[in-house]
Amino acid sequence: MSDRQKGLLKAISEVFSNAFNRYCARHIFANFKSYFPDVKVRNLFWAASRSTNIKDFNVAMEGIKAVDLGAYTWLKDIPVDNWSKHAFGTDVKVDHVTNNLTESFNSQIDSIRNKPILQLVESLRTKVMKKFSKREQKAKDWLTDLPPSVRAKVNKFQREGRHIQVIHVGNSEFEVLHEPVTVLVDFSKAICDCGVWQIYGIPCKHAMACITHLGVSLIPYVASCLSKEAYMLTYAGKIHPIPDESSWPQIKGDKVHPPANKRKPGRSKLARRTESDELASHKRSYVLRCGVCKAIGHNKRTCPNVPSHAKKKKKSDELAPGKCTGNFFILTSRLIIPTHCDPSSLVFSAIATAASPQYQVQ
Ligand SMILES: [Zn+2]
Ligand SMILES: [Zn+2]
Repeated sequence: MSDRQKGLLKAISEVFSNAFNRYCARHIFANFKSYFPDVKVRNLFWAASRSTNIKDFNVAMEGIKAVDLGAYTWLKDIPVDNWSKHAFGTDVKVDHVTNNLTESFNSQIDSIRNKPILQLVESLRTKVMKKFSKREQKAKDWLTDLPPSVRAKVNKFQREGRHIQVIHVGNSEFEVLHEPVTVLVDFSKAICDCGVWQIYGIPCKHAMACITHLGVSLIPYVASCLSKEAYMLTYAGKIHPIPDESSWPQIKGDKVHPPANKRKPGRSKLARRTESDELASHKRSYVLRCGVCKAIGHNKRTCPNVPSHAKKKKKSDELAPGKCTGNFFILTSRLIIPTHCDPSSLVFSAIATAASPQYQVQ
């Protein structure tokens, strides 16, 4: 899954020539909406991207075409198997259309990403080691054969399939009546016309209705890569700790030094470069509390309990040029003169005229 960076696409096709490659739909969408801001086509874009079968996809695309032909041709130029669920390879059993999951990786490494390379690798190793061990331990406590996230999807599809009527055609085939359409489910191939089973690796609501009809266990019909066993195997590997440098064996030969550190001009950038469509994290580190009414969520400048004329007082009234506050004489908002200066003096007149040409000393 990539954001279609040109160099990355080339590298992936060379290095991982057999891998499925998807484009992040959120990224495509950011481009798409900059050209076609109409909210109707924007919603249809997501419908097209999340379609699990060609029929739903075509409905969404025809909708886009009806609203904006330009938007339709723009999308048609992107290979469909890179951005719409229905065209994804069905071996993967992952239905993600966005690479939001890399955000969670980014936030994981946020505290260490500015470290020098050795500390960075070492910190990553420690983090991954901890994560592996934590997840392996956690999985041992699960009571079911499925990880909780898979279980949640199974429960959802089971609930949705509760009132669906099925006709057992024979062997492994079912006809499922789900108004307003009829879909076919084939257990020998683990597929349904709706497309969900083959893409998610979890029986869809139609297949769930069939499983209930047959009164059999659903576990054999969930893809094996989504099982608790597969989850535990994923985290079974260990990254062994490295002993302290002082106990490393001494090796003869030239000492290897790091390359000379060339500092680029200017202040070095610490923040990760974010994509234009990424949400900036303008999180406040404190709670905003009003100084006037002590309520949370606004400050004294935006306080609804202070009449609007009172807020403007400072600018328009207190610092009005030509006004005398008693101790000070205000010439301009920047030039305030103590009143013990004699306004008739030549010096005062010169300052006053220079600072505020409209001010005339009589
Ligand atoms: Zn289905
Ligand atoms: Zn207030």
